[in-house]
Amino acid sequence: MLQTAVQLSAYEVTLIRGGVWKPRTRPGSFEGVGGAALVWLKQAGNAVGLPVATEVAKPAHVEACLKAGVDVLWIGARTTTSPFAVQEIADALRGMDTPVMIKNPMSPDIELWIGAIERIHKAGITKIMAVHRGFSTYGETLYRNQPIWRIPIELRRRLPHLPLICDPSHICGKQRYVMAVAQQAIDLLFDGLMIEVHCAPRSALSDSGQQMTPAQYGRLIRKLRHVSSSGPTQLPEIMKLLRKEIDAIDDNVIALLAKRMECVKRIGIWKRNHNVSLFQPERWERILQDRVQSSERRHLSGSFVRNLFEHIHEEALNIQGRVRSGRSSSRRNRGVEAFTAEHFENDRRVSGQCDVTELDLRGKAKNSSPLSWEEGTCAPDVRLD
Ligand code: PEP
Ligand code: MN
Repeated sequence: MLQTAVQLSAYEVTLIRGGVWKPRTRPGSFEGVGGAALVWLKQAGNAVGLPVATEVAKPAHVEACLKAGVDVLWIGARTTTSPFAVQEIADALRGMDTPVMIKNPMSPDIELWIGAIERIHKAGITKIMAVHRGFSTYGETLYRNQPIWRIPIELRRRLPHLPLICDPSHICGKQRYVMAVAQQAIDLLFDGLMIEVHCAPRSALSDSGQQMTPAQYGRLIRKLRHVSSSGPTQLPEIMKLLRKEIDAIDDNVIALLAKRMECVKRIGIWKRNHNVSLFQPERWERILQDRVQSSERRHLSGSFVRNLFEHIHEEALNIQGRVRSGRSSSRRNRGVEAFTAEHFENDRRVSGQCDVTELDLRGKAKNSSPLSWEEGTCAPDVRLD
C-alpha cells in the first residue's frame, strides 16, 4: 500500500483508494485484511499528504472508518443494490459530513442508483459523488461490466450538479482497455476517474488483471486528451448547419417509425384474424440479418443497429399484443381496427408508401459518419508500457 502510494504521488492524484473489506462474489477469495488495514491506509495517505478512501458495506465499517479518520467512504456496487444495506449505512452516517461516493448498482437500474444517493443525502451528507463502474451481464463479453453509457448520461441529466466519476478498471476488467474507457469518460464530461493501481499488479490479491503500475498510470494521465463542454463561444456556421440537418433527420426518423408502426398494427389485425402468433421467429431472424448487413454496408455499427431493431421489434410486438387484446384505444388505432383483413391484403398503396419513405431515409443515412464509440464495439487496446 505504502509503496504504491509513494510511487503514485509522482503523478496527478487527488485521493488514494484501498479496499479494506472486499466484497467477493464467491467465498474463499481474498476478502481484504479488514479493520486492521485502516491504519495502513491512513499511513499511506499521510506519507504522501493525500486523503484516503475505502469501501463500507455495513454500519460497523462506517464506525471503524470514522474512528480511524478515513477521509472519504464509498458504497460498492453490490451494496447499492440493497436498499436495506444502504439505509443502514445512511443511518450510521447521520450527523457526519464525510464525503461519500456511491457506485452504480450491479444491474442497469437508474432508480436504484438514485435511491441510494437520496438515502445518503437524506442522512445529511452533502458531499456526494456517483461512480460509474458498469453493469453485470451474463456470458463472455469484451468488458467485465457493460458500460451502458446512457445510464450515467441519464443520471447526469437528472442530477446535473452531482459529481460523476468513472471507474474504468471495473468496467474493463483488463488493464489494456482502461485507457480507452477512461478517455471515453472524459469525452462524456465525467468529473474524475477512479483507477486501480498496484506496485506489482501480478501479485495483487484481487482483480490483478485490471491493475496497472504507477508508471503506467502516469502514462495514462499524460495521454488523456482533455475536452471542454462547449468549445468556442461562437459556433461555426458548419456546426449550426449540421445540427439543423440532424434535427430534420430525427424528425424524419420519428415520422418513419410512426409509419412503420402503422404497418405493424395492420399486420397485427391480420395475425389476430387468422389466429397467428405475434412472434414470427423466421421473419425476425431475416429482418435482423438483413438490417445488420445493410448497416455494415453503410458503415454503421452492426451491434448498434441490432440493438435498435431489438427495441423496434419489442415495440412492434407490444403494439400487436394490444391489437390482439383489443387494448389499442387511440383514435388512430380505431381507424386501423376498422380495416378488415381482406381490405388489408388488397391494399398495395399502403406498403408502397412505406417503401418510398424508407428509401429516402436510407439515402440520408448513407452520408452519415461511422459510429466509433457505440457500445459493444471493440475499444482500442492501448499499451501503457
Ligand atoms: C472495488 O472498487 O474494489 C469494488 C469492489 O468495486 P465494485 O463495487 O464496483 O464492484
Ligand atoms: Mn477492485
